Amino acid sequence: MNPFTWFILLYVGSALVGTIVLWLWHDSRDKVSFEIHRRQKAFHCVRCGMLYSLRKHDVSEGEACPECGYKNYELSF
Ligand SMILES: [Zn+2]
Repeated sequence: MNPFTWFILLYVGSALVGTIVLWLWHDSRDKVSFEIHRRQKAFHCVRCGMLYSLRKHDVSEGEACPECGYKNYELSF
């Protein structure tokens, strides 16, 4: 086979591999940032009406409102 053909094959092959690696890296990074936002818990204070969110794992006991201190439970949709 012509050496120039090998050069073309390596050139195109490395570009394809580079594109796939960048695609997988970007996809995993995107998934991590989505999970951070998805894990936020939303609260609505029934006393003062403030909306706030937390990234805390366990909020089964409720969380105090940062404005008035009233303990509210997580909003469920
Ligand atoms: Zn409040």
